[in-house]
Amino acid sequence: MPKDLILLINEKAHERQKAGFDVINGSVGMMMLDDGSLPVASEIRSVLSRHVTDHDLSYSSVAGPKDYAEALRHWFLASDFDEVAKKGLFSVIATPGGTGALSLAFFASRTAHSILLFPSLDWPNYEAIAAGFGLEYASYELYDEGHFGLRSLEKQIKEILTNHDKAIVVINDPCENPTGYSLSASEWQSLASLLNQKELRGRVELIVDVAYIDYAEEKTRSALKEAVRCLSKETVTSFCFSFSKTFSFYGLRIGALAIYGQERSSVESRESLATGEARALWSVPNHMAMNAVTELISKKETFSSLKKNVEENRQLVARRAALFLSEADAVGLPYYPYKDGFFVTLRVKDAFGLAERLMKKDIFLAPVKTNGLRVALCALSEKKLRGLARAIKDTVEEEA
Ligand code: PLP
Repeated sequence: MPKDLILLINEKAHERQKAGFDVINGSVGMMMLDDGSLPVASEIRSVLSRHVTDHDLSYSSVAGPKDYAEALRHWFLASDFDEVAKKGLFSVIATPGGTGALSLAFFASRTAHSILLFPSLDWPNYEAIAAGFGLEYASYELYDEGHFGLRSLEKQIKEILTNHDKAIVVINDPCENPTGYSLSASEWQSLASLLNQKELRGRVELIVDVAYIDYAEEKTRSALKEAVRCLSKETVTSFCFSFSKTFSFYGLRIGALAIYGQERSSVESRESLATGEARALWSVPNHMAMNAVTELISKKETFSSLKKNVEENRQLVARRAALFLSEADAVGLPYYPYKDGFFVTLRVKDAFGLAERLMKKDIFLAPVKTNGLRVALCALSEKKLRGLARAIKDTVEEEA
């Protein structure tokens, strides 16, 4: 699979649209309103447009300004990590989007004999980033009878630790890409208990990719935070944050890696590795974007407007999901367990072939694995979604 396949499919869809064809473009993960525009309010755009001063255009530090780090932590985690941040146990390094955060997290958590563990259905860029750094990776089953595949994860970790010194567990939650699965509170607690097992302490690390955190209900965020906070003192957690999905600032390329652990030396050593690598890879983050985001989050009016906007987007996607899934059920189109978020993934036999055949009908979807065809609910209006399940089902049957 070409590394940029999804973006290539998206480009094809745009070419057809430009040529005057009526396309259904559910390929790429960008939240669109029903009229095809990004949900960014005019007062937010106006703040962005003012960030052209010398302070915006000059270099920042490699990790980014402290006020950006604080604004970001409060936006995503409220005050839950205030105390540990004061003690130097929560370190933030600004990055070009969540992709930058994942790159630094993969790099900084590795050891000579470590291995990354990805979910069996994942964002394909995980493998690409790991391969770029020459890192070893394997996968665990995302699902076990419709629930989080904890048993597979446990089995994989234990097997791996017989010949590796560390297992780095990557969880994309909530609103997993590509399936839209979110762990329940009890699944998060079970995951924490697994990582806290005596024999695993000091030999496991957790990377939580929370790129879609604002598209889940508040209780999911609380469950995640609570589980991370009760991990043993030997376990370091890396949070990969992104403002791409949260504020629809995809092109601004801004996010952060946050490293949290109860042992200061572990946090500092990863921070130092991550900062050194950031300097080598992209030098400094986008100063203009950090200043704008800091202002937007720090001012009461824009903060409330963003919160309202994010909630409206979450509800819009939830309505789209309800419509598509009810039609999928009605026509018997199988899909992987979905809870919330941008995407649902259809359970198919030959996703790549099916995507090709759908493209001939001007339906553009993303094959993510041989057995998974992803539908970007975030990008499709109810009008475009209505009848889509039937059209996909017909195309599957034409093949048979
Ligand atoms: N993580 C997941 C699961 C994603 O789907 C994406 C983007 O599609 C990212 C991280 C990174 O997004 P960005 O680099 O645009 O912030």
